[in-house]
Amino acid sequence: MSAAMDVLHQPPSGSNMPDYEQARRSFSWAAERAAVWGRNGPLNMAQVAVTRHAQGEGADRIALRWRGRTGDRLDLSYAALEQASNRLANVLRALTMGPGDGVFLLLGRIPMLHVALLGALKQRCVVTPLFSAFGPEPIATRLRLGAAKLLVTSSSLYRRKVQALRPALPQLRHVLLVRDDDEPLPPSTHDVQALMGAAGIDFAIAPTPPDTPALLHFTSGTTGQPKGALHVHEAIVGHCSSARLALDLRADDVFWCTADPGWVTGTSYGILAPLALGATLLVDEAEFDVERWYGLLEQERVSVWYTAPTAVRMMMRAGTEAARAHRFSALRFIASVGEPLHAQAVRWGLHAFGLPLHDNWWQTETGGIMLANFASMDIRPGSMGKPLPGIEAALVQRLPDGGLRTVERADETGELALRRGWPSMFRTYLNEEERYRRCFVGDWYLSGDLARRDADGYYWFVGRADDMIKSAGHLIGPFEVEAALMAHPAVQEAAVIGKPEPVLGEMVKAFVVPKAGVAGDEALRRTLLGFARQRLGAAVAPKEIDFAPSLPKTRSGKILRRLLRARELGLPEGDTSTLESP
Ligand code: ATP
Ligand code: MG
Repeated sequence: MSAAMDVLHQPPSGSNMPDYEQARRSFSWAAERAAVWGRNGPLNMAQVAVTRHAQGEGADRIALRWRGRTGDRLDLSYAALEQASNRLANVLRALTMGPGDGVFLLLGRIPMLHVALLGALKQRCVVTPLFSAFGPEPIATRLRLGAAKLLVTSSSLYRRKVQALRPALPQLRHVLLVRDDDEPLPPSTHDVQALMGAAGIDFAIAPTPPDTPALLHFTSGTTGQPKGALHVHEAIVGHCSSARLALDLRADDVFWCTADPGWVTGTSYGILAPLALGATLLVDEAEFDVERWYGLLEQERVSVWYTAPTAVRMMMRAGTEAARAHRFSALRFIASVGEPLHAQAVRWGLHAFGLPLHDNWWQTETGGIMLANFASMDIRPGSMGKPLPGIEAALVQRLPDGGLRTVERADETGELALRRGWPSMFRTYLNEEERYRRCFVGDWYLSGDLARRDADGYYWFVGRADDMIKSAGHLIGPFEVEAALMAHPAVQEAAVIGKPEPVLGEMVKAFVVPKAGVAGDEALRRTLLGFARQRLGAAVAPKEIDFAPSLPKTRSGKILRRLLRARELGLPEGDTSTLESP
C-alpha cells in the first residue's frame, strides 16, 4: 500500500515505552503479574482497581470525576469508591449472591454503575454491564442467556424496559433500583441506596484465583448474533500493562474513555485499567455532542483520551475550527478503537488538537488492546500499529487439513492470530463451547479479521473475514475501498459490500454519505466512480454507488455491512438487537 510510505514521526522520550523492541524483549507476564499483584497475589480485579489505592497513599486521590447530563458533578476519591463498593458487596452477600452468580447492570453512566461493578467483582459474581439504550427484548434475551440472578438498574429503566418481561425471567431473583423518579417502588424490587445505607463499609474479599470468572461481555453483533465472551479476574494484569504501554497512561493522568461500559472498551478501559493505574477517570453521563466534548476535554484537563472512529468522523464533520476554538492544554495522547481509523482521521487530529490519533486494535474476545500505535513509535496513518509487548501476533491461513500456514511475506493478507496465554483472553463463549474451540488452532487464537503486515512490521486492517468480497477472482477487503472513497473531500462516510453478480461472482457496491451541504447526485456519483477507479484499479473499485443520509451502525458505532447487504438483497435482516436506530 502506498500509504505505508507516509509516516508521522513521534519523539520516543517521555513516554511509558521509549524503546519498543527493548520493551518486547524484556517483557514477561510473570513479572507483570508480580508488579500488579504484589506479594499478596493473585488478587481480585476490584482489589487491584480500588482497594490497593484506598489502603495506600492514593486514598484521597480522585478516582472518578462524574459529569451529569444537566451539569451536576461529583468527585469520588479512591477511599469513597472503596467504601461504596464494599457496601454493595455486603448487600450482595446478604442476598446470598455468591461466586459465579450473574449480576447484570442496566444503568446510564452514573457512579452507581462503577460502584456496582466493583462491588459485584469483590463478591466474585460475574458482571455484565448492558447498554442502557437497549430495548426490552435485547435486555431480556441477554438476561436469559447470561442466567442473570440479580439486576441493578434505575426505577425508570425498570418500569420502561424490564417490568413487563419479569415474569418470563424466573431465574432473576433480585432487582436493585436506583430511584430516579417519585413513583413508589415497584413490587419485587429493592431500593439499592437504602440497602447500601444499612450495609457495612468493610468487606473482606475472599481469595480470588486468577481464573475466577469476572465479566461476561457481549460482542457488538456486527457480524451476527452477539456472543457472550467470558473473562476472568486475571485479565486486570493485561488491562494494566496495555493501558500503560498502548495508552501511555500514568497515575497523574485525567483519562477519558468515551465508550459506554455496555461494550468491552467501556469496562476494560472505561473503568478497570485507569483505576488500576491510579489515574482519575472522567465519566460523562451525556451522549455525544461536539461542543460538550470539547468543553469537557478543556475544562476537565483531560490528558489521555480514548475514543472511536465513529465519534471522530462526527467531529470531523463539525469542522476543524470548532476544535481549534478550544485550548486542550493538558491533552497529550489520543487513541481510537473499534473500527478502522482512516489515515485522514489520524492526520486530522494534528490540525484539530495538535496531536495525531493513535489507532489500536482488539476485540471483546481479547479483553484488552493487542495491536497499537504507541506514543513513542512513528505512526503510519491508516495502520493499526504493532503487537503489544507480551502479545505475539501472526497472519495465518487455515489449511484444508485443519492446520495453519503462517503468512510471512510482507503485504500478503492473512487472518490475524494471537498466541494464546495473555491474561485478558476470553475463556469461553457463553453456552457455545464448541464455537470457542473452533477459534483456536493449536496455540493460536484466530480473530476472524484479515490483515496485512508491511516490511517494517506494521499491521494494516483488511476487513472482517465475513465481509470480504470475492469479485472476478480477486479477494477484496471493504476497508481498502472505503478508505479510497473517504479520501475524496465530498465523502463523509462509506461502506462497501459484495453484491452477487453472475459474471463477477460478486460486485463491489458502495454506500456513501456525502459531507454536509454536498448533494449526492449523478455528477458526484460519476466523480466518485472515477476517483475510486483511478486509485484502486477497475477490478477493485466499486461498480455501483448509492447515496444515503446515514449508515446503519451498532450502538458501539460500528458500520453494519451485513445489514446493508441484507437490505440490498432483500434478505432477512438477522439480529438487529444492537442496531443504533432502526
Ligand atoms: P461481532 O463479533 O458480534 O460480529 P464485533 O466483532 O464488532 O461484533 P467487538 O468485539 O466489539 O464486536 O469488535 C471487535 C472488532 O472490531 C474487531 O474484530 C475488528 O473487526 C473491529 N475493530 C476493532 N478495532 C479495530 C481497528 N483499530 N481497526 C479495524 N477494525 C477494528
Ligand atoms: Mg467479533
